Amino acid sequence: MRLPLLFKTQQFVLSIEIFPPKTADGDAALRKNLQTLVAYNPSFVSCTYGAGGSTRDRTLQWCREIQLDFLCTAMTHFTCVGSTREELLSWLDQAVAEGIQNVMALRGDPPAGQEAFKTIEGGLSNANELVELIRDKHPDLGIGVAGYPEKHQEAPNMDIDLNHLKRKVDAGADAVFTQLFFVNDNFFAFRDRCEELGIRIPIVPGIMPITDFARIKRITSMCGTVFPVALATRLEAVKDDPQAQFEIGVEHAIQQCEELRSAGVPGIHFYALNKSDACQRILDVMQLQQKAST
Ligand SMILES: Cc1cc2nc3c(=O)[nH]c(=O)nc-3n(C[C@H](O)[C@H](O)[C@H](O)COP(=O)(O)OP(=O)(O)OC[C@H]3O[C@@H](n4cnc5c(N)ncnc54)[C@H](O)[C@@H]3O)c2cc1C
Repeated sequence: MRLPLLFKTQQFVLSIEIFPPKTADGDAALRKNLQTLVAYNPSFVSCTYGAGGSTRDRTLQWCREIQLDFLCTAMTHFTCVGSTREELLSWLDQAVAEGIQNVMALRGDPPAGQEAFKTIEGGLSNANELVELIRDKHPDLGIGVAGYPEKHQEAPNMDIDLNHLKRKVDAGADAVFTQLFFVNDNFFAFRDRCEELGIRIPIVPGIMPITDFARIKRITSMCGTVFPVALATRLEAVKDDPQAQFEIGVEHAIQQCEELRSAGVPGIHFYALNKSDACQRILDVMQLQQKAST
């Protein structure tokens, strides 16, 4: 089902993000974890597109598996990095031929070793151009775009970043999925600013349950996510106890999700990091198992 119809017909759009594993063991573990997660009837499962298109075939392979074996709607992520317009269009045609109906349209991060994003000859510079390209060639595809409640790290300020988000929306995006955050007030302020700018498409918060403090610290330092001091202090105190970190992380994610749901968000996008245990606990507590028919 395409994004616009999902948001029209489902009360709460629950989505799970995975990435293509690098090894056969990783594939097997992901299959097991997806089995657990699809029992909650997520509205869709999205699969990331590795830096520089490095996983593009694996991304499509996983999207195919999500749809054919797990009988769940898939969304492929798609970035501009390292591809010309022609290459992007050809990959898009392939995705559509495979039955993909939804795309997360992204600029992508600079490839490893490169500090700033560089547009290649014949390529695209920003995600709004990718949204335009997709809308032009495949007008019916569902398109998601990234939003940054705490600002994209390259943007000089929030106003400029929000104006760039508006460009993606005006180019034809159907929904905004946010970068992970741990402070709900930052999301609420972002949502208010989007409203003021006339952004009228669903804005879905992205939640990453903390299960491993060291790993989360690495991730948040890369994307500039604000880490609340009180939460960091609690996690630091149990840095040698993985189970205690898991419990604190899940407790925080549950509080975040409950508050977001009470504040009327249209759904939640979980950065599951290919695991199921934390999401499972959160979804159980929130009683978020969706009816297959809704
Ligand atoms: C939900 C989600 C999923 C993601 N999935 C992936 C993935 O699968 N693979 C991957 O490699 N990365 C992924 N990312 C990371 C993303 O690629 C990076 O955050 C990247 O740095 C920016 O991508 P974007 O689509 O937001 O870019 P853009 O919207 O193009 O923004 C990038 C920067 O340029 C500015 N900008 C935007 N438009 C313009 C314009 N027209 N002119 C001038 N400046 C402009 C923005 O303010 C921002 O600072 C994901 C991020 C999110 C939130």
